[in-house]
Amino acid sequence: MTSRESSSAPGSASSAAEFAPETVVVDAGRPERVPGASVNPPVELSSTFIGTGGLHDAPYAYGRFGTPAWVPFEEALAGLEHAALPGLVFGSGLAAIAATLSPVPRGGTLIMPRHSYQGSLESAAEIAERAGFDLVSVDIAETDSVITALDAVADAGAASAMLWIESPTNPMMEVADLPALITAAKKRGVLTAIDNTFATPLLQTPLDLGADIVVHSVTKYLAGHSDVVLGAVVTNDEDLHQRLHSERALRGAIAGPFEVWLALRGLRTLSVRMDRAQSNAARIAERLAAHPDVVETRFPGLPDDPGHARAAAQMNGFGAVVVFCVDSAQKATAIAEAVRLWTPATSLGGVESLIERRRRHASEPESVPEGLLRLSVGIEHIDDLWTDLDAAIRSTETL
Ligand SMILES: *Cc1c(COP(=O)(O)O)cnc(C)c1O
Repeated sequence: MTSRESSSAPGSASSAAEFAPETVVVDAGRPERVPGASVNPPVELSSTFIGTGGLHDAPYAYGRFGTPAWVPFEEALAGLEHAALPGLVFGSGLAAIAATLSPVPRGGTLIMPRHSYQGSLESAAEIAERAGFDLVSVDIAETDSVITALDAVADAGAASAMLWIESPTNPMMEVADLPALITAAKKRGVLTAIDNTFATPLLQTPLDLGADIVVHSVTKYLAGHSDVVLGAVVTNDEDLHQRLHSERALRGAIAGPFEVWLALRGLRTLSVRMDRAQSNAARIAERLAAHPDVVETRFPGLPDDPGHARAAAQMNGFGAVVVFCVDSAQKATAIAEAVRLWTPATSLGGVESLIERRRRHASEPESVPEGLLRLSVGIEHIDDLWTDLDAAIRSTETL
């Protein structure tokens, strides 16, 4: 739509090709290196841009179509996800997800993991109803049953179908066989869209496996400080890029300049944040798995976790979300109320550790256990985190 490519920040594209991801997060999206120039991009606050010709004659015309405020972050994200086209930032993760579902036509089918992020499930159900496509729910860790669902779509000759993948899933931590599912979907002409929020591009890059679209809730690890709500999409397909771009421009789910600036600022430390958060998460998961009051712990880094072998084969790390179950909703709620360092709140991916009983949300699927607590492990000292969590768990022993 707008010729954003012509305004590329010099160095970004080459940054991704040349450097490791740990360097790309720091280097990508910097202003041009001329004497006296800023090291960081500015917060670009203009809603309109000078021009007398057609709307698309100049690089920018109006802030809903495109603004230099988005470009550095979009280029950095594209570099990290190995996309040849710039990313597309949206006003929230769910806005990005709604746009991503737009290619599924009336009469088509969306195959979706039953334990996708609850907001994605709600949004997809509502969009499916309004747009008139079928929603098929699958256990994404059961590769054979997902392939059966893909076969059914191919056999039915559906106009078009999309396989939605979340891996690891929120909040059940199931790990999908990404290479197998993406290949199987491709063979049957089914689009694949992957919510890469939990893994981040540091741990997996699904476009490399042939996925069509990768979606992020930038709110979480990419921005990383629980101070913005933001989403993004990346794709290597020109037609899909055009489609997503016009969904954003015409429906207007755009990101604010300051939020995008904060997201890029947060992205600079993604790699060091993930290192610390993952190592904390691994230790917390081990200790929870050995805890007498814990019924079950799910973390793909645990050697006996059902997702471990797959995660070890396809990811560069196991992430920093850990879930565990105690034997009642009452106990789980009491634990979330008893912690003093952990913050009882929804969301994840920030520097501070969060704890939440997921079934407190009425819309969370009933197959998520009542006593399940989701931990977003942050970057505090491991001993402080464990002491606080362990004390909170033990305080509920008499309940
Ligand atoms: C939070 C989340 C979303 C939704 O993103 P928002 O930024 O809250 O709109 C989507 N997918 C996953 C996996 C999430 O954790």
